[in-house]
Amino acid sequence: MNSSRRTFIETTLLSGAALATAPSFSHALGAKAEELSTQPPKPAFPVTDYHVHLSPTLSIDQALALGKERGVHLGIVEHPGQGFPLNTDADLQKYIDGLRKYPVRVGLQPVYPGWSKSFSKPVLDQLNYILMDALTLPNPDGTWLPIWQIDTMVDDAEAFMQRYMQLIEQVLTTEQIDIFGWPTFLPVPLARQYSELWTKPRTSRIIEIAKSKAISIEINELAHVPDENFILEGKHAGLKFTFGTDSRNQHAAHFYYCYQMAQKCALTETNMWAPKRK
Ligand SMILES: [Zn+2]
Repeated sequence: MNSSRRTFIETTLLSGAALATAPSFSHALGAKAEELSTQPPKPAFPVTDYHVHLSPTLSIDQALALGKERGVHLGIVEHPGQGFPLNTDADLQKYIDGLRKYPVRVGLQPVYPGWSKSFSKPVLDQLNYILMDALTLPNPDGTWLPIWQIDTMVDDAEAFMQRYMQLIEQVLTTEQIDIFGWPTFLPVPLARQYSELWTKPRTSRIIEIAKSKAISIEINELAHVPDENFILEGKHAGLKFTFGTDSRNQHAAHFYYCYQMAQKCALTETNMWAPKRK
């Protein structure tokens, strides 16, 4: 999503200690060292990075060069809505037309529920896919809590999980989306409780809804989510997966965690999602 998500995790990795005990982050730290010696193999099936943001540090030509070098196809996303570049049909049409010259999939990453009211169906239908996460929680006072920010406070883990599950269900059931991004990500204060908080009823509920709505699950390179157990449970339920870096720079199309999960969970082409929209 925001460039600051990448900055936050990289800063954390560099400064080390703060999150070293949190599963997903210690995993990320371990991966840094591991990566030098044992880069997991690129899967045998065609790979696409469906979560690439163009930015001042990543032009379309730079992204395509990285994809070519790494043998990875690209899906480009942009945020619609207030505070973001795409607010009208004309904006969206210009964005789609601008990318159609290139061999990429064209996607959208809405942030706030109800985003689609600003656009008409004929324009939306031209997109290859819509990716949405559940990382921006509505507060009772009408403000929003971006849970990926490092200073996110959580007083009560169970109360948080209930609110979070509500938003996840809302995103999966009321938004017309193709890919659920950042699945099972937990804010920093809860990261080390990943396996306790993601109880079987909770993971099964997410998987059940995603399956019924034919929504695919993003394996997120940046946050190292979801974990192996979730992927295996989803795979057995018949869910489809995508890989995403959520990058705005040279990290585009660079996979370690996704390839590692593909190997550990024996994912094949049949487990991977592909866009139906042309
Ligand atoms: Zn993003």
